[in-house]
Amino acid sequence: MSDLCQHSLTQVRDLLCAREVSATDATLACLTRIERTEPHLSALLHVAADQALDQARILDAKGPDPAQPLWGVPIILKDVVATVGMPTTCGSRMLEHFEPVCDAHCVTQLKAAGAIILGKANMDEFAMGSSTENSAYGPTKNPWNLAHVPGGSSGGSAASVAAGQCFASIGTDTGGSIRQPASFCGIVGMKPTYGRVSRRGLVAYGSSLDQAGPMTRTVRDCATVLQVIAGHDPLDSTSMTAPVPDYAGQITQALAQGGSLRGVRIGMPEEYWGQGLAAEVESTCRAALDLAVSLGAEIVPLSLPHTRYAIATSYILAMAEASSNLARFDGVRYGYRSAQAEDLQALYVNSRSEGFGEEVQRRIMLGTYVLSAGYYDAYYKKAAQVRRLIRQDFLDALQQCDVICGPASPTTAFALGENTTDPLQMYLKDVFTVALNLSGLPGLCLPVGLGADTGLPVGLQFFANTLQEESLLTVAARLEAHLPTLPMPGLPYVAGR
Ligand code: GLN
Repeated sequence: MSDLCQHSLTQVRDLLCAREVSATDATLACLTRIERTEPHLSALLHVAADQALDQARILDAKGPDPAQPLWGVPIILKDVVATVGMPTTCGSRMLEHFEPVCDAHCVTQLKAAGAIILGKANMDEFAMGSSTENSAYGPTKNPWNLAHVPGGSSGGSAASVAAGQCFASIGTDTGGSIRQPASFCGIVGMKPTYGRVSRRGLVAYGSSLDQAGPMTRTVRDCATVLQVIAGHDPLDSTSMTAPVPDYAGQITQALAQGGSLRGVRIGMPEEYWGQGLAAEVESTCRAALDLAVSLGAEIVPLSLPHTRYAIATSYILAMAEASSNLARFDGVRYGYRSAQAEDLQALYVNSRSEGFGEEVQRRIMLGTYVLSAGYYDAYYKKAAQVRRLIRQDFLDALQQCDVICGPASPTTAFALGENTTDPLQMYLKDVFTVALNLSGLPGLCLPVGLGADTGLPVGLQFFANTLQEESLLTVAARLEAHLPTLPMPGLPYVAGR
């Protein structure tokens, strides 16, 4: 039954609906796959085998329901997403034994759609990182090469989907944390428009930037999951009220028209295609764009002139918001409590020093600094102003084209430990992803091939205007249909495969 794990979400969903496989079969297939791969990958922090099998049995007894688009489909959530009856650690000691009292909005939606929540995925602590090496529970390995990182911060989710442990995962993206790991692991990842998916029940990192989104093996799978988790949530004041289109239907329609990209204008910002880009990433991405041109797309050279300020702006704002969001974890109101403290002050200091890892502490200090009196204007306020300029760059560019496109990361997945000694070096890796979150616009990363030098996956990103997720999905689906299918990672280390 482990072959089932090679299927896309859409394929397995069709088999489930036709009752050719049961929800229990699908769950057992994933559990077997997890058992075989997990000792090598460390992608997961929690596997809810019994709960998932119970849920599968209940679904099987009731039978498939056409109103439930994810009926019987096993899904894994990044461990920043609140789940009742399962821990939600955020990859931190601070929340080691935390079990939320309610599900995140997206979890409620997934369950209502018939999905089976199989477990929780590893991540950089509080979503701060680009490699999953900042997890308090150890790093996740890239299924394509175990000596390399899976990207981050949703690295556990990406590795899990790529290795076939589940059919989809929910990640979160504050500065690239869905798109960059998707790129490193050869899967599809989408950051929807800010507010398209409710943030209720996501442990906040940078509240004005955070957005949850699907991580899947195909574009259509991404559309199906987005359809379920998107929509207005009256309990999240930043959630958008716009109706949710039929994303999967739009893809079917686009492909039925022959999959041509005629008339589609793809913007190529010069800032994303120049210096610092690894040759194998550039050539693989350009080959995909040549394919787009052969399908009728028109390439529009353009500029996003404030791109060089994006990393500084993003990190200042994210750290400032994080320092405020993480203030609640003090060992009294929330989180780990130190056993050694003579007075209240010592309790706060010891709890936070022992509960938070090094990178989180660094960011809380930097975030507090940029918000402090005397520095606020120079850092936080300035960053907020530059953010407007960056957003305007995107809006201006999107007057000239339908989607903007660039690599998701300057390199393929780097080696474990390669960037851990110099935090700035790690931050600079996010050069192609952070600006999008500042703009609030949606983006999608599509695997377009394997790098000629490393043999590791390369991801191409597309950006579109507010609520234009459908443009991203239809352009990516048409390209995907003409690209050679990326095999699943070889997993030579899995015995009995
Ligand atoms: N890598 C970026 C950071 O460390 C973005 C992380 C994210 O999107 N959560 O802040």
